Amino acid sequence: MADGRPAIPAELRRRVLVEAGHRCAVPACRQHPVEIEHIEDWAKVQTHEFENLIALCPTCHARKGDRPGQIDRKSLRLYKANLAVMNSRYGDVERRLIEAFAAKLAAGAAPGDQIAMGPGSEISLWYLIRDGYLKQLPWTGGRIVSGGATLPVAEIYQFTPAGVEFVQQWADAQPLDPE
Ligand SMILES: [Zn+2]
Repeated sequence: MADGRPAIPAELRRRVLVEAGHRCAVPACRQHPVEIEHIEDWAKVQTHEFENLIALCPTCHARKGDRPGQIDRKSLRLYKANLAVMNSRYGDVERRLIEAFAAKLAAGAAPGDQIAMGPGSEISLWYLIRDGYLKQLPWTGGRIVSGGATLPVAEIYQFTPAGVEFVQQWADAQPLDPE
């Protein structure tokens, strides 16, 4: 490159992209495509280290900075740390539900809104339920008969107050795993 900066090695790029699910690491955003950015500026660190790299969409990258309304480095570090917690603790369906619910809360939905999922979703949401963040509500609607079994048409879930708090901590760049 013109400034003498070596390219980020392909394997390192791949790790950073996989960590963020090939989407912007900012919870309220999650857009793609993304660019790989240095949390602490390249000009200062002069090295490509996994811990200092994060996937950001062009819009969020442009907001990186220390002024009000910008995304500061502390927030970027927390977004990155929380990605690691979410990836290892929850499955794909659970992470997607958390993201979708955070987006609905941000758009003004009520925290107690009910969420309809297909029959058999409980196993995909198991850890959220076990952690006390999500609860299944009784289904009072129609049922289907299939192979001698009577199944509800849908399963209804609701985030608990602890679950709503967890989702908001994730969205607001608060540590999910304070230690
Ligand atoms: Zn973004």
